[in-house]
Amino acid sequence: MKISFPRMGNSYIGFKHLCEGLGFEVVVPPSLTQKTITYGARYSPEFACMPFKVLTGTYVEVLEKGADVIISSGGIGPCRAGFYGVLHEKILKDIGYDFKFIVVDPPMANLKDFYNNVLFLKPRNLKWGSFLKKVRTAWKMLTALDGLDMLVAQRRAYELKKGDTQKAFETAVSYIDSAETYKEVVEAETEGRKLIERVPCDETRKPLRVGIVGEIYVVIEPFMNMDIERRLGEMGVITHRSIYVTTYVRHTIWDRKAEDYIKDAARPYLKQMVGGHGINSVGETVLYGKDNYDGVVQLAPFTCIPEIVARSILPKVSRDYDIPVLTLHIDEQTGETGVQTRLEAFLDLLREKQKVLGECS
Ligand code: SF4
Repeated sequence: MKISFPRMGNSYIGFKHLCEGLGFEVVVPPSLTQKTITYGARYSPEFACMPFKVLTGTYVEVLEKGADVIISSGGIGPCRAGFYGVLHEKILKDIGYDFKFIVVDPPMANLKDFYNNVLFLKPRNLKWGSFLKKVRTAWKMLTALDGLDMLVAQRRAYELKKGDTQKAFETAVSYIDSAETYKEVVEAETEGRKLIERVPCDETRKPLRVGIVGEIYVVIEPFMNMDIERRLGEMGVITHRSIYVTTYVRHTIWDRKAEDYIKDAARPYLKQMVGGHGINSVGETVLYGKDNYDGVVQLAPFTCIPEIVARSILPKVSRDYDIPVLTLHIDEQTGETGVQTRLEAFLDLLREKQKVLGECS
């Protein structure tokens, strides 16, 4: 059985190791390219949001490579994500692909379905203890990858030679990819961190700090957001992403307090769920404002209702916390030059504000 799943940053490494460890052959989802978007746009409804189209394109690519099982995450709340699974399966089967589509929803959405999905993944002859050990190792791999991602977002702004931190990061990720056991993952993470921390830096710099909020897929997958964190980092900015694969899983499944903290921050502006990460975009912007960040970039797929709602509220948050917010709408037509120009103008504004505040204090 050949299994595959969506590509979201480097998380595919953790999922690949888990599935291989459970005895499946894995079709690694290829890096997203223009070809993915072309397939996605060809087979998706025109009105579908960008993440839907990119996922359609990815699924076509992995099915062409021979995948016969696709595992995807579901969605809860009032937005189209909840229908993605059904719709993707129908579109792809109508094209003529024969495969099994598994949508993994959070356990509290439907405990029985969740358990059945776990049973599908767990080989019958594998003891539960061994199964959980493999899950634990994969989880450690995912947290290590996210940890490295957080570290480079902090370090890029200080590097002496542009691109050195990225090179160290890619090597560190390859260490994690080569690890097999839990212990090896821990060691790989330690080595990877050391490598990134050894990149020659100018620690006297005073970089701007910018938070990134928005819809989960465009925030996490660099291809979708024109590699915004690397772009900003190499322009001398420390970035902080509001969401990672592991924080999403943690907040959704067992750390509801962390999620409530963000929602509480949003409450004076938005009280009800609007689907996706709309409420989080508002709450996180409030928290970045309280934490004296210099600015926030909101990443919003074109036609994404939750982010449109957040977008309409963010100007008020921006005024209340005196934190500039830039919204970038992402669709098939979004080009690197346009994003670069808007980021440069935004950073000019932030630097000007920083200078004025410095003169006043
Ligand atoms: S959150 Fe936005 S982009 Fe994601 S599925 Fe919902 S409407 Fe589409």
